[in-house]
Parts: sequence; C-alpha cells; structure tokens
Amino acid sequence: MCNKIGFASKKEANTTKNFIRRTSSRAVLPERTYFCRECGKWVLTSKKIFNKNEHIRQKLSGNQRKNRRGRFKGDD
Ligand SMILES: [Zn+2]
Repeated sequence: MCNKIGFASKKEANTTKNFIRRTSSRAVLPERTYFCRECGKWVLTSKKIFNKNEHIRQKLSGNQRKNRRGRFKGDD
C-alpha cells in the first residue's frame, strides 16, 4: 500500500494531474501518471523517471497528498 492518491483509470489520473498543474501554486507538480501494482490504481508522481523504489520513497512525503484525497474526487 502507498499513501498516494489512487485513480481507477489512467484518464482520471491524467485529468487530475492536468487540473493540479493548471491550478496549483505548489513548487512540485505531478509530472506523469503510472500504474501502481501494489495499490492496483493509477497514481500521480512528480518523478520523471520510473524507479521500482519510487513507491516506497514517495511514501515519506505522501501525507500531504493523502489529505487532498477527497478534494479531487469526481473531478473528471
Ligand atoms: Zn501504491
């Protein structure tokens, strides 16, 4: 399990990614989406290069995103 926002479809993940990139003033913005096999969902990442440990490392900074989970729900 990871603490990232999970989406049922790549389309939904991309829609949210684009929404955040358009509207967020955060310094770090999501760069892309990928399918997390552990979660079984599509998630957003600010990392450009896929790394098999990405999932674990991002867990360290995942709390902020976890709190935003509900905010983008249904934004498609
Ligand atoms: Zn995951």
